Amino acid sequence: MIKKFILLFVLICLIFCGCGKKKDNDDVLNKIYKRDRLIIGVRQDAAPFGFIDKDGNFAGYDIDLAKYIAQAILGDSSKVEFVPVTASNRIMKLLSGEVDILIATMSITNQRMQILDFSTPYYTAGQAVLVKSTSKAVSLGDFEGEKLIIVFGSTSEQSLRRNVPEVVVVGYKNYNDAYEALKAGKAQGIVADDTILLGFAIKDKSVKLLPKRYSKEPYAVVFRKEDESVRLREKVNYVIENLQSTGRLNRLKEKWNIN
Ligand code: GLU
Repeated sequence: MIKKFILLFVLICLIFCGCGKKKDNDDVLNKIYKRDRLIIGVRQDAAPFGFIDKDGNFAGYDIDLAKYIAQAILGDSSKVEFVPVTASNRIMKLLSGEVDILIATMSITNQRMQILDFSTPYYTAGQAVLVKSTSKAVSLGDFEGEKLIIVFGSTSEQSLRRNVPEVVVVGYKNYNDAYEALKAGKAQGIVADDTILLGFAIKDKSVKLLPKRYSKEPYAVVFRKEDESVRLREKVNYVIENLQSTGRLNRLKEKWNIN
């Protein structure tokens, strides 16, 4: 009888004292406050959105946006650690918790919305084709039976495989390798977001961007789809909407020539 009583007493203690494993109640925003630093996945192969400048630092439109967000959340635009991501590994790096958010030229799509949350869009790109300047092609239809390059994990990979089955799709891990492959004649064009491709066309007159656009690519900040991200997403949306309404986002576009 006494044994039973002691057992019951211990059980009640466990329930009411919350003994056992302590639950981690912090949401992502609280974790960022405690750490006093944001960890953001960004591109290093997608100028002018995310690239490494001549001093070896991350630079670009996405990087500036990240700094605005760090300023708004932590009061200091330098309190941000950049983790390089590619189109193909960015979702994995976000879901594994390696980064808090992604600002990585990532478009909102219905398919991605099944597993991720997105902010208000902060830019809209469109898919286009980059070819050698000597190319006679004017649109995607001119590549029947030929090879076109995509970067793995990008929206172009999906749309090309789905909508243009008569071309041979050649995949690369990042845009720099894709560009080198085009230059080396391994394929007749690269299908990707116009703004990223324009970065190559501006620097190199031996390649050009065809005028047609094949999609709308609304870029947004990306969050894990969970309650823990809700407050952070609200905060980021506030920052983006504020940058839009005060004209600072437009000035940022002018700075990076992506108007
Ligand atoms: N915006 C496109 C996407 O989200 C392509 C750009 C990129 O490779 O990140 O897939």
